[in-house]
Amino acid sequence: MQTINKIIYDLHCHSTASDGALSPTEVVKRAHEKGVHHLALTDHDTVNGIHEAQRAAQHTKINLIPGIELSASWENKCLHIIGLGIDPSHPVLLQGIESQQNIRCDRAKKIAFKLEKKRIFGAYDAVKASAMDGMITRSHFAQFLVKNQHARDLQNAFDKYLGHGKPAYVSTVWADLPHVIDWIKQSGGIAVIAHPLRYNLTNRWMNRMLTAFTELGGQGIEVVTGRSNNDDIRRTHQYTQQYDLFASMGSDFHAPDQWVELGHLADLPIGSQPVWQLFD
Ligand code: AMP
Ligand code: MN
Ligand code: MN
Ligand code: MN
Repeated sequence: MQTINKIIYDLHCHSTASDGALSPTEVVKRAHEKGVHHLALTDHDTVNGIHEAQRAAQHTKINLIPGIELSASWENKCLHIIGLGIDPSHPVLLQGIESQQNIRCDRAKKIAFKLEKKRIFGAYDAVKASAMDGMITRSHFAQFLVKNQHARDLQNAFDKYLGHGKPAYVSTVWADLPHVIDWIKQSGGIAVIAHPLRYNLTNRWMNRMLTAFTELGGQGIEVVTGRSNNDDIRRTHQYTQQYDLFASMGSDFHAPDQWVELGHLADLPIGSQPVWQLFD
């Protein structure tokens, strides 16, 4: 149960500008219905939804924080870095986004080619149509595979075809971590590591990653995500203490009735330094 006066932050969610099911306007409306006060729209490698979200937020009391979730390569791994409070019209950021978009487009063609080898045809045209002007993600391929009965559900599409090491997996070189953090900082934003426990890093790799991230000027880490349990929160809270990082929270909402709802998040642990201290 949420208490009446609690201020609710949700600093990670998606719209149709990338792989979310709702338009930016619908995301803002839904966040408002769910009691969110401060919302960051953080689509994958794009800021295209932000203008619309800002306009929609003017009709509610929501404070809309411009954000992005950038894919970054580091030591042959893919990390997701959230930029919060970015200027969505900053030329350095826009140039970075354009290069990520090209990478996504090339990758989509390669994924479709690999699916053809499995005798699954038409994937590229289908994902291009379903992404409309938005970023093509593996979620679009997963939806295509489910729709055409090659997979039971989205998870099954990843397990069968799209996940790491599966037949349609394409290893991808994204912009490297220093560049991604630099774009965020130059555009006035704060760099935050998204869902830090989802990269399957050993303790040693986790420490290496957090060291590199902080040395490059990264300032925050998601302590509470849509799917964190108490142990996850405790563990991530310790990283904030150890590496002097600000704590963020976000649902990673993509669609109604899937994964997790907007604003439905556990509290930050006592003693956290919330990332919004930096932009309040
Ligand atoms: P991409 O950035 O194009 O590689 O796509 C990653 C997106 O795919 C994530 O942001 C999730 O929305 C989605 N995704 C990744 N793994 C899974 C999974 N196992 N089940 C469902 N969706 C997934
Ligand atoms: Mn996604
Ligand atoms: Mn992510
Ligand atoms: Mn996300």
